[in-house]
Amino acid sequence: MKVKVLKGEELTSIGIGGKREVFFPKGVEELLKLNLKEFNFIGGGSNSVLRETGLPLISLREFNYIKYQGELLTLGGGVLLPTILKEQIKKEFSLFEFLAGVPRATVGGLIAQNAGAFGFEVKDFLKRVVFINGKGQLKEIKEFSSFKYRKSPFPEEGIVVEATFRIKREPKIKEKIRKFLRKRVEKQPPFYLRTAGSTFKNPKGESAGRLLDICGFKGFKLKSLKFSEKHANFLINTGKASFSEFTDIVEIAREKVKRELGVELSLEVKIL
Ligand SMILES: Cc1cc2nc3c(=O)[nH]c(=O)nc-3n(C[C@H](O)[C@H](O)[C@H](O)COP(=O)(O)OP(=O)(O)OC[C@H]3O[C@@H](n4cnc5c(N)ncnc54)[C@H](O)[C@@H]3O)c2cc1C
Repeated sequence: MKVKVLKGEELTSIGIGGKREVFFPKGVEELLKLNLKEFNFIGGGSNSVLRETGLPLISLREFNYIKYQGELLTLGGGVLLPTILKEQIKKEFSLFEFLAGVPRATVGGLIAQNAGAFGFEVKDFLKRVVFINGKGQLKEIKEFSSFKYRKSPFPEEGIVVEATFRIKREPKIKEKIRKFLRKRVEKQPPFYLRTAGSTFKNPKGESAGRLLDICGFKGFKLKSLKFSEKHANFLINTGKASFSEFTDIVEIAREKVKRELGVELSLEVKIL
């Protein structure tokens, strides 16, 4: 199995964290040889930051297969969102157009975070998730009521190795993707900036970005990290931010929002 030492700068979209050993199993057989309890899992790192030191990581980059069976699409846990969107255009079907413009995300990370936008969530399209649990057993689930807003049983229950989604024929998919991309560009900071997407989850019926804005965090900068001027819930790494810079700015924001508005913000970004 390939093992590499990579930096947080390479492993996460926001570019935060120390070096880690990363294991790249080629398939389920190799993955089953690892004791999952001794690892964290990483997909595209688009919603994660790494501590300066920590457990080694498993990446399912090699689980990149795509299989069609009529109205069902089965994807390996490491398939990247941009690859899925390209398939959607090529084969004209509807699935993750609402996430167009999210960089790097993988099937495993999309399921673990139950990613969503514009009223859609990944769980709405799921038919089956195959995973390996902490005891090294290959399992599957076909019922998804435990999936909530940016929450799923994963990675706590194990590593997602494959998932099957319901797809629908959509000859106008290219235009739909463009429409969602335009909406995203209007709301979010430019795609080339280093960010992990939403820093905090939206409290029920509220927007974390709006609360941060009220508390004056739009454009607020601490060393290399800055809350975006365009959307206060997006932290931008403007240099070489460290993990402690991340926790410092997050704590300052949480404290002020709690003190001034009485709302407890919880992190959407995962700390590995
Ligand atoms: C510019 C930008 C815009 C974004 N917009 C959105 C948005 O609109 N909506 C939204 O929901 N998110 C958004 N995100 C956040 C992010 O893209 C999603 O949360 C995405 O699902 C994360 O996927 P990933 O593969 O990068 O996961 P990672 O960041 O690598 O991991 C996230 C979590 O999933 C776990 N995990 C990863 N792979 C597996 C696996 N195979 N099995 C089990 N657990 C696993 C990790 O351990 C970690 O806990 C955005 C991010 C960026 C940078």
